[in-house]
Amino acid sequence: MVITPARQQYLQLKAEQPDAILLFRMGDFYEMFDEDAHTAARVLGITLTSREFGRGGRVPMAGIPYHALNGYLRRFLRAGYRLAICEQLSEPGKRLVERGITRVLSPGTIDDPALLDAGRLNLLLSIVTHGALVGLAWVDVSTGACEYRALPADDSVGLAAFIDQLDPAEIVGPESDDLEIDTRVAIRPITGEWTVDSATRLLTSRFPGCEPIRPAGALAVAVLISYLEHGQPDLLKALEAPLPYQTDGIMVLDRQTRLNLEIDLRSRDRHDLFGLLNRTHTAPGARRLRTLLDRPLLDRNALGRRLDAIEELVGDTPLRSGLAKALSGLLDLERLAARIATGAARASELLALAETLEGAERVRDVLDGRAETALLVELTADIDALPAIRSRIRAELDNGSSRLLRTGIDRRLDLIYAAIDRDRDGIAAMERSERERTGIRTLKVGYNKVFGYYLEITRAHRDKAPDDYIRKQTLTNAERFVTPALKEAESRILANEERAAELEAELYARLVRELGDSVATIRTTAAALATIDALVALATVAVEQRFARPVLDDSTVLHIEGGRHPIVERQLPYGEFVPNDTRLSDDAPVVILTGPNMAGKSTWLRQVALIVFLAQVGSFVPADRARIGLVDRIFTRIGAHDDLANGRSTFMVEMLETATILHHATERSLVVLDEIGRGTSTEDGVAIAGAVVEHLIERVGARTLFATHFRELAEIAADNERVAALQTAIEQRPDGLVFLHAIVPGIAEAAFGLEIARLAGLPTAVIQRAQTSFGKTTRAIPTVAAKTTSAADVVRERIADDVLAVDLANTTPLAALNLLAEWQQRLRAATEEPIGPRALLVAEDQRAAQAD
Ligand code: ADP
Repeated sequence: MVITPARQQYLQLKAEQPDAILLFRMGDFYEMFDEDAHTAARVLGITLTSREFGRGGRVPMAGIPYHALNGYLRRFLRAGYRLAICEQLSEPGKRLVERGITRVLSPGTIDDPALLDAGRLNLLLSIVTHGALVGLAWVDVSTGACEYRALPADDSVGLAAFIDQLDPAEIVGPESDDLEIDTRVAIRPITGEWTVDSATRLLTSRFPGCEPIRPAGALAVAVLISYLEHGQPDLLKALEAPLPYQTDGIMVLDRQTRLNLEIDLRSRDRHDLFGLLNRTHTAPGARRLRTLLDRPLLDRNALGRRLDAIEELVGDTPLRSGLAKALSGLLDLERLAARIATGAARASELLALAETLEGAERVRDVLDGRAETALLVELTADIDALPAIRSRIRAELDNGSSRLLRTGIDRRLDLIYAAIDRDRDGIAAMERSERERTGIRTLKVGYNKVFGYYLEITRAHRDKAPDDYIRKQTLTNAERFVTPALKEAESRILANEERAAELEAELYARLVRELGDSVATIRTTAAALATIDALVALATVAVEQRFARPVLDDSTVLHIEGGRHPIVERQLPYGEFVPNDTRLSDDAPVVILTGPNMAGKSTWLRQVALIVFLAQVGSFVPADRARIGLVDRIFTRIGAHDDLANGRSTFMVEMLETATILHHATERSLVVLDEIGRGTSTEDGVAIAGAVVEHLIERVGARTLFATHFRELAEIAADNERVAALQTAIEQRPDGLVFLHAIVPGIAEAAFGLEIARLAGLPTAVIQRAQTSFGKTTRAIPTVAAKTTSAADVVRERIADDVLAVDLANTTPLAALNLLAEWQQRLRAATEEPIGPRALLVAEDQRAAQAD
């Protein structure tokens, strides 16, 4: 088999990036060969064909049209592939076209805005083992921000959880490490030698003045840098000095708790807290909001600063809406800064920078002299709208014409542009002079890519063409000619255009380089704008969803009045969500909540945890009032799920999660347990759940919310004054149960399993059989334990108040009769109307409002 030159060229380029899929430009297509072609066919769903390179050299091939490149790149990157893009570097001619790899892309090394998800960090993570530690370093190459940290190597669960939270797009690690960590993205092994010495030297030379990094972290950063150097060295220019990941003052939330509370499901089509809060106007603002949710705080002062700022924005509507207006439409300043640092910024991006800096100035103008709270004042001071840079960009770049740079910037360039213009004018003038010379009124000058400039004469006049006309092309109705003078002018234009392009590139690179000096300032401004955007979003939600500022202190109190679950509330019709109170204190830090399925137990548990979480993000909370003693960690164990991949049953998972809680919870923690002990026999379940609750009360002392089906557990409360028993209020009606979703004192009598089965539409025959034959007693629906507050109770109480309020001495018999009629009507409505209890109360409120 003969290896043709083209094949040889391909194999050579492929050897430069053996672990990348090579997209080999051939004319209008990017072709992939051999194994890459198979991969492309599978991942992209494109047709697999083959191509012959010389006799007998047929290889598999798959191709994508050049204009659809970005779409396919995105799919490759999403599937985790590393890609090398090879372009044609010379014009096609007789000889083999020159080709070279111009870009290498992988999921974690993208800086092209067209390939990035705007509202999300895009992290490249490196993992390196060093003795008993694992070093981790991560960078968002689209902004240049880099952090590192070390974790114990033997805690593979903790490592996996941390990596999961970072949610990296790509992970790399030295080939020689064989770490067994459960990560969503496979670790890409890379080759190289890294020693602590060489890593430290590398870092001190690259980041002079940067805090010394301890070995594990230093190695991880060094691996990160090596990986970028191999393929995307330009990205290193945007790399900021690595910062140690701050764990001090940050609340840890395990992965399961984040999922249970639906904080950030990282999916567009699921309702989560991030989706609810994300009223940001810019992509960096959305990313900042995500970071705020990733890192709730433990420090009361830091939280107070955020809350002050939000309170100011909530209270000052013109300020809030002025900022919203100024922020909307601003482009991604963080990523623009990185593109300038790497030198990759296109002219359109520089113009976008100028525009966004103008926007930054508008944001500053809104805040300046108006904002009073410390955080907003500081952020305002951080904004530098860089007027000099803006005017430089506006002065040099020619927006709207076909030329890159304006005239007046460089004399040499001006002269070239002038020469080009002269020759173009000369050619235009030729149209007139040649018409006169030949007498052909329809003669015209034209241009096409293949022949350049030409003179065109219609077929009818072709005999009138002068002798010095050289025929170039014959069309059906016309002939095209050139003349020596035309050709001369054309080649001058071409030569000048080439010189202009070179000079433009040089001047443009100089401009970008000089803008590079301002990258740090642009980054500070970008960071300030992102934070302002996130704060305005939190304030907007606070106003629209009627959130209140929580009072934070160092007690272990948890008092919530009128608390709501912000996500469930939004899914229900307006006004249907029933707010609930919560009171936990030193004396009684534990609540055992009983009630049937579907009564609102887990909604309440999550709601309390979410309110605490939001408070420690520094946000207002969905409640009328809240006083929260700061929590060091929120633990949750909610819902049943198998971990089949790891061969763990529901019960095993439940016990593992419970064990983690019992080991790590402190008296400052908030523990939320929903139905533990369900995955096993009732007897064992009650026994285990009971022992867990006792341990939490006696040993840990954490604020604890515990929901259960088991009535026996709630009875612990009777013997222990540190435990309160609560239940979900239920109203029994002749036509069935009504869940009032109110949390009230008491212990639910029974689980109403059969009633729920009936509500769910299980066939009557099945329900009857269950009632009579399978041990379920045939007793009537059990009554709910005393003291539930039903809607009808509320109405009755209000009417009683009204009765007492009547001034008999000043009431005519007729008026009294009317009042009686009205009371009767309200009482009937309360007890008979088959409308929901909430609707009833709303109707009551309306009536009261009308009466006022
Ligand atoms: P449980 O945990 O007791 O089985 P859930 O908390 O899952 O019950 O609640 C079941 C449904 O009841 C929820 O999906 C929601 O629609 C509704 N619900 C729960 N709490 C409330 C509330 N406070 N106000 C109105 N509806 C609620």
